[in-house]
Amino acid sequence: MLKSDVVIIGGSAAGVTAAISCKRRNPGKTVTLIRREQQVLIPCGIPYIFGTLGTPQKNLIPDTMLSGIDVNLVIDTVKEINREKKIVYTENGNDINFDKLIIATGSTPALFPIPGIDKENVFVVKKDISYLQAMLGKLNQARDIIILGGGFIGAEFADECKKGRDNNVTIIEKMPHCLQLAFDIEFCTEAESVLSGRGIKIITNQTVTGILGDKKVTAVQLENGERINADAVIISTGVVPNTELAQKAGLKISASTGAISVDRYMRVRNDNDILACGDCAVKVSYFNGIPVKTWLASIATHEARLAAANVFETRYSGLGTVGVFSTQIGDLAIGAAGLIEKQARENGYNVVIGTAKAPSKHPGGIPGAVPTMVKLIFSKNDGVLLGGEASGGACVGELINVISACIQHQMTAYEVSLFQMGTHPMLCASPIAYQIVNAAEDAVMKLK
Ligand SMILES: Cc1cc2nc3c(=O)[nH]c(=O)nc-3n(C[C@H](O)[C@H](O)[C@H](O)COP(=O)(O)OP(=O)(O)OC[C@H]3O[C@@H](n4cnc5c(N)ncnc54)[C@H](O)[C@@H]3O)c2cc1C
Repeated sequence: MLKSDVVIIGGSAAGVTAAISCKRRNPGKTVTLIRREQQVLIPCGIPYIFGTLGTPQKNLIPDTMLSGIDVNLVIDTVKEINREKKIVYTENGNDINFDKLIIATGSTPALFPIPGIDKENVFVVKKDISYLQAMLGKLNQARDIIILGGGFIGAEFADECKKGRDNNVTIIEKMPHCLQLAFDIEFCTEAESVLSGRGIKIITNQTVTGILGDKKVTAVQLENGERINADAVIISTGVVPNTELAQKAGLKISASTGAISVDRYMRVRNDNDILACGDCAVKVSYFNGIPVKTWLASIATHEARLAAANVFETRYSGLGTVGVFSTQIGDLAIGAAGLIEKQARENGYNVVIGTAKAPSKHPGGIPGAVPTMVKLIFSKNDGVLLGGEASGGACVGELINVISACIQHQMTAYEVSLFQMGTHPMLCASPIAYQIVNAAEDAVMKLK
């Protein structure tokens, strides 16, 4: 039987990062990664297969990331973890004895229990190349595409499905606004107006009660009785942690999130030789320590680095999930880090808001410069930064990461207002108008 010091189950964001980090920290140890697919998709790139990229083959994690650092790659499906014997058993007999095990089995689409879900041309967002290839073929022929769920995946799919196609795309969202779980209303409405401007119809405050048609979908039924024609339906209503193997092995599962219960070192609570990271593992909020259902590749890789650091000795503990996220709809980039204003108030904070708007490049006449807005949310009691949101040009992707760093360092409005930035006309706002600093100064004035 094969033996490996570390065995990792899962070959996506968490698994690959755990393997790289493990090998970097322990070059003398053998590291084996087992995954079930021949080629792994970049999960965050999936919506772009349907427009910008045009094929799943342009959206792959290269295996050279593993082969280049001497990680053993096994393509197989793990069917059982035997904790006593420390063996993982696979479907094709590639059984491996391990010293330490890292579970990174990710998530699967949440089941949406409505009648008609099994009809032809009704799709979920699976991380599976052949499924997505077939879905692409069907969407290319579809005239009326309905997207259930107006979160970031639904919005990205809607935007991409419009590209290069003469079709009707409709988002159906049960909340009053698209993206409402991630952003305050003013950012949601900005994104919605870009979606509408791209010809995408948005129906909010409605759920779908049935998917209609004989064999193939022809329409969806809304709870208000309305029927909307559909040649294809994409269900993007969330994911659930994939914990089947862990459950069978008797590992502790969190009742509130359905994910594998881990401590702040990513060690499974009832087996210290097994760690878990990514979408299959429990996350707790950075702000209040309560389990959160935030499934992001950026969190998965952070946890994978923690798991790799702690696999042979206890090194670093995680601080909890800040939740940093960005997306682009049409030409509008939007991002959020930490608590949005609504969440901060719901958490009992007395808040002070600072805002600033400036062109994304300077002077504002530079080609490609667009108005870019930053909103910062501070605690009124101690002036500490709790969260931020941004919208505008491509620089938003990194502005929101800077805001996340300020949150993790518990910087106050005063400290952020004196933060030293670097600027360049082609790349970001002018130093006079730099949005993060000016939004913080706005808050300092209100805190006085
Ligand atoms: C359409 C879409 C867009 C997204 N966009 C973003 C984004 O912009 N930014 C962001 O941060 N996040 C984004 N996410 C979320 C992100 O994709 C997930 O958080 C991330 O994929 C989690 O990585 P993971 O490695 O934990 O799990 P997964 O990506 O689910 O991978 C799990 C791995 O485990 C393997 N596996 C499972 N069971 C077994 C078994 N029994 N045997 C062997 N192998 C097994 C699978 O084959 C796979 O390789 C997006 C998700 C989707 C679906």
